[in-house]
Amino acid sequence: MRAALIVATMTQIEETTFEPSSRTRRWTTPLRALLRHALDVALPPLCPACRAPLGDGAGLCADCWSKLSLIEPPFCARLGIPFTYNPGPGLLSMEAIASPPAYDRARAAVRYDDIARALVHAFKYGDRLDLAPMMGRWMARAGRELTHEADALVPVPLHWRRLWSRRFNQSAALAGSVSQTCDVPVLHDALKRVRATPQQVGLSKPQRADNVQGAFRVPPERKAEVAGRRLVLIDDVLTSGATVDTCARALLRAGAKHVDVLVFARVVAPVRSPI
Ligand SMILES: [Zn+2]
Repeated sequence: MRAALIVATMTQIEETTFEPSSRTRRWTTPLRALLRHALDVALPPLCPACRAPLGDGAGLCADCWSKLSLIEPPFCARLGIPFTYNPGPGLLSMEAIASPPAYDRARAAVRYDDIARALVHAFKYGDRLDLAPMMGRWMARAGRELTHEADALVPVPLHWRRLWSRRFNQSAALAGSVSQTCDVPVLHDALKRVRATPQQVGLSKPQRADNVQGAFRVPPERKAEVAGRRLVLIDDVLTSGATVDTCARALLRAGAKHVDVLVFARVVAPVRSPI
């Protein structure tokens, strides 16, 4: 209400003061700046995880930041799953050996815990697109060894119906932010979701794989941009890995030379030891 009043007042003042005389113009700019500042004070940015007001207006509050679980080495060289102790370089997790994915390596910035879930939800469903630069910077940091060798980033696409209802593709927004940090271009539309798939939430690992099988393909007009290239798939959350695995298969079938995966958060089982 207070914010709405300020906006209304600001619009009125802008309308009444923006006259073509140089005298009024001199006053308009500082007045606008002052009113914008008043608006910022009336609506302080909130921490996306706990809704506490943020002082400096970016990222997480200090309390949530301290609880966020960044994924650091040691981890499985293939899947990026963190280990509880360091088994030495290049060791793989049981998952990577038992069912190796189609992609080569996966990396994630953080564990998908309560804080990460709140961040992803605010970003995806709460119109907090302003979180993309911060999330993208964390991803770029976690995926340095992948992007260093990459020709392009490929966001996991949404089906057009979901894109229409959500208005933006969160993976494409994250890919844009990662690209700004690591200077690797984004290959938009390299993958197409040819089949709408039900949400993966609540499905078992085999059900998830069945659910997305054949859901993605590289359109014929994009094959030349994919063939022979080193690509990094970008998504927000990795749960079973079924979605990125299906995407990687489609890219490899179209002739991609190498496919890695970089996500913001990944689900990690509580205790993880190397074999
Ligand atoms: Zn917080």
